[in-house]
Amino acid sequence: MPQVFDTIIIGAGWAGAVAARDLAHAGRSVLVLEARDRIGGRARTWANGDARIDLGCSWIHGYNEGNPARWIAKDMGVQTTHLPKPTPSAIYGPSGPLETPVAAQLGSALGAAQAAFRTPHPAPGPRESLADALFSSASPLGKVEDKSLAEGFARTLEVPLGLKLERASLRWAGWEGATNFAGSDAAPEGGYEALVGKVFQDAEKHGAVVKTGEPVTGVRDMESGVAVQTDKGSYQARTVLCTIPVAVLRQQLGIFHPPLPERYQDIVRGVNVGVLEKMLLNYDKPWWPRANEVASYIFLPTKAPGGQSLMDVLESSTIITANLAGPALPGATPTLLSYLSDTPARAALSVSPAEVAQTFHAFLKKRLDVPDAPEPRASEITNWLTDPLSLGATTTPTPVSDGERSPMDFKELSRPTWDGKLGFAGEHTEMENRGSVAGAVVSGMREADRVKRYLSKHDAKKQ
Ligand SMILES: Cc1cc2nc3c(=O)[nH]c(=O)nc-3n(C[C@H](O)[C@H](O)[C@H](O)COP(=O)(O)OP(=O)(O)OC[C@H]3O[C@@H](n4cnc5c(N)ncnc54)[C@H](O)[C@@H]3O)c2cc1C
Repeated sequence: MPQVFDTIIIGAGWAGAVAARDLAHAGRSVLVLEARDRIGGRARTWANGDARIDLGCSWIHGYNEGNPARWIAKDMGVQTTHLPKPTPSAIYGPSGPLETPVAAQLGSALGAAQAAFRTPHPAPGPRESLADALFSSASPLGKVEDKSLAEGFARTLEVPLGLKLERASLRWAGWEGATNFAGSDAAPEGGYEALVGKVFQDAEKHGAVVKTGEPVTGVRDMESGVAVQTDKGSYQARTVLCTIPVAVLRQQLGIFHPPLPERYQDIVRGVNVGVLEKMLLNYDKPWWPRANEVASYIFLPTKAPGGQSLMDVLESSTIITANLAGPALPGATPTLLSYLSDTPARAALSVSPAEVAQTFHAFLKKRLDVPDAPEPRASEITNWLTDPLSLGATTTPTPVSDGERSPMDFKELSRPTWDGKLGFAGEHTEMENRGSVAGAVVSGMREADRVKRYLSKHDAKKQ
């Protein structure tokens, strides 16, 4: 007789880790099946000597405001470095670093513009976008004399949003800010991949079985439970928890028999998954200006969009580059880590990693005005958008639509089906904290609790 697990968890990212640990601690038998050869999913850490740099999630946002990742790190004995206040950025315009008063005016105008559209009343139409509000004549940004500087600066928002300002719904702008974990940030020492690894080790110590390199290819509802198929074998369980990222699920809807409810499928197809890539350039020593002072450099466009080469795209985009040799950061290392929003990310992914590294180095040398900067000793560009097991960075805030899209989509994606035998977790299933480790963690806890209740109820029925 094959073993019948209490739960099979599909996917070994944060949501799967937390659910596996909670259920194993409750004495439930758990099997985790992961398609990749490694655990962690969108938690992945670059390692070189002592340097550790997160290529996916890196910050525990809202560290002092209740983010459960803080307590998981503590439980696992992992130190965290807390940054109580944001450290200053140096803003570069087309002619070099901006004077302090100009930079301050941009910062306060964007802050005021954002405050103005937080929970707007009456609600704007569903097709109105953040770009409509930010670039309107009534926007506080309109008071900045140099309009192209103001627009370039506003586009820094495209990095955390994961989508272009023209595609972000104004009606739902600021919706998440009232409830998500925001405020101070912290980083787990050694990186997020090691931390999630410790959570899995703890789950395994309590009996969970974790198998990597086993993509799930079929999930079938049986009267007695659920049958799960991979290319290496078949498994049975009383319940299944699917943590497959939503953009991947969109392509894997055919693995469920019977099919998922039509309404669920519509939402899987409708939610937006955004773009965010990281470009890492590691050097022997820092060569960039003010390496001991600034946390990051913000490069505003030096020319209008339209050019074809990667350099053209970088020069017409807003790029944020973190100075990892900088103050207050954990494990300082001579590295510049650039965050690529939609347009530059797509351009970077269309050429070879070696060409991206070379072009980025040339771009940084030029913008920072250090023509004889030494060559990088190592580089890495992420490909979350083209990786078939992520197909994007994370879900984004609600995009503009004809009215059918809203934050309720994330709530609906959390609803179990097959009479409670099949549940869903992952960052895309948490309305309040979507797109973050916190969302994935909370969803894993939520589903572990639901599965425990389901199993207890059915255990009681058998007696
Ligand atoms: C560049 C970037 C920066 C980020 N920065 C931050 C940050 O600073 N702070 C923060 O809080 N969040 C951040 N995030 C978001 C955070 O990384 C994610 O929200 C979180 O890691 C998602 O966890 P998850 O468990 O939902 O999904 P995942 O980690 O993607 O796990 C899902 C797993 O399912 C597996 N899978 C897919 N299909 C199958 C299949 N058929 N069979 C078996 N397994 C399958 C995948 O391989 C994957 O391992 C960032 C993300 C990115 C990409």
